[in-house]
Amino acid sequence: MAEKRPITVATGDGIGPEIMEATMHILEKAGAEIDPEFIDVGEKVYLTGNSTGIPQEAWESLRRTKVFLKAPITTPQGGGYKSLNVTIRTAMGLYANVRPCVSYSPVIENKHPDMDLVIVRENEEDLYAGIEHQQTPDVVQSLKLISRPGSERIVRYAFEYARQNNRKKVTCLVKDNIMKLSDGLFHQVFKEIAAEYPDIESSHYIVDIGMARIADTPEEFDVIVTPNLYGDIASDIAAQIAGSVGLAGSANIGDEIAMFEAIHGSAPDIAGKEIANPSGLLHGAIMMLVHIGQPEAAQKVHNAWLKTIEDGVLTGDMARGKASVGTKEFAAAVVERLGQSPSTLEPVTYSNKTIQKEKDIKRPKHEVKRELDGTDVFLFNNTLTVDEIGQKLERAAGDTFEFVMMTNRGVKVYPDGFSETFLSDHWRCRFQKGEGKQVKQSEIRELLSRIEDEQLDWIKLENLYRFNGKIAYSLAQGQ
Ligand code: NAD
Repeated sequence: MAEKRPITVATGDGIGPEIMEATMHILEKAGAEIDPEFIDVGEKVYLTGNSTGIPQEAWESLRRTKVFLKAPITTPQGGGYKSLNVTIRTAMGLYANVRPCVSYSPVIENKHPDMDLVIVRENEEDLYAGIEHQQTPDVVQSLKLISRPGSERIVRYAFEYARQNNRKKVTCLVKDNIMKLSDGLFHQVFKEIAAEYPDIESSHYIVDIGMARIADTPEEFDVIVTPNLYGDIASDIAAQIAGSVGLAGSANIGDEIAMFEAIHGSAPDIAGKEIANPSGLLHGAIMMLVHIGQPEAAQKVHNAWLKTIEDGVLTGDMARGKASVGTKEFAAAVVERLGQSPSTLEPVTYSNKTIQKEKDIKRPKHEVKRELDGTDVFLFNNTLTVDEIGQKLERAAGDTFEFVMMTNRGVKVYPDGFSETFLSDHWRCRFQKGEGKQVKQSEIRELLSRIEDEQLDWIKLENLYRFNGKIAYSLAQGQ
């Protein structure tokens, strides 16, 4: 007999203990080789004054087992409590959020009977880095960070996941017609990595039309890979139209550690009544079994679950008015069907292919030549006219720089700007030395001093670089 794989398990709050008991019972009867280590996280821990909801022993267990099966937890009302999921995700580097959204028509009615897609959402970067600043009374900014290694890791994970789970196509959603550098990088990486997987079809949509198509014809998608914000939105659209919010599981995957759970919460309204549906957590557990290399057990549980619902054994939330069973009876019905497969619903197969990690891929190091082309100086001003600011900056440019242009909210306003745009108090002013001429950092410092001498209030700098000779900054509208 194979050695049992240690896993960390949190039974959670509300309906958590009931659905975890049902899930563990099914896994045990299916012959999953797991050795659970139970930890407390969530409400109880928050209420001891621990603002993360995660005690030291829990971190130690997670570091030891590297696999976490987590029931939903309750975040107490009131301020000061940090989201447990966000804390675990960021502290443990769980960069991929994986959420399958499947229709179980005709057992559970659905407008999209053939829907069967998986969203692979990047979990760490993008606008969720949470780097925000108010710069002037009128203007705040939120930094969108997309990195090449972060994009390579998530895109590779999506293709590897597709291979492991017998999926045929990966679709990338980005908005690179507008965000040419950030989303452009994600798309570029997608094209490079897709070429390494000729057995898997790849496609791409601009995210707005892509989302519309998910909502309208979800059956055309298989695996979707997308940056954090779009992934957040797409996951909820897809789960909602699949009608499976109570049924879906999700995984958060890192290079070392992974966490598996249901997508729903702790449902305090039905806690203790033994009527909760354990299916969402069970689906999280099935993903966990595939992840830890036990595809046979995963397949056995998944097919028995499909057969159970196909036979009309449903908890109240699935039955929608028809006869229903409680949590324990539902689990017993799944156990009874272990070894069986559904006939109307499509049976699943899982292979024992393993996922190749990005960090194990050896890439040749490419030399990157970086050249400083100039700088964008951002100013706060709500008293002077465009021409008055422009003339001061012409003087500040001196003999060293050319004052190329000034924009307001991205629209060129000087010289020869568009007078139709409304003007905020936030100005972006571009200084360069002319085609192909490099700038020294000391020259930028001197420029800033001259700008201060003109009584202008600069708030930040953004340097303009070329990488390997290619311009790596956006041009303003009208430039
Ligand atoms: P919820 O998902 O707990 O409940 C929404 C509705 O769905 C309720 O009517 C509930 O009874 C029903 N429901 C949910 N799961 C069900 C199941 N398995 N079987 C049958 N019915 C089910 O969302 P909520 O009420 O907004 O949140 C309750 C608590 O859960 C909050 O404290 C919230 O912070 C927490 N929460 C935790 C997680 C997590 O741990 N990952 C996720 C979401 C919400």
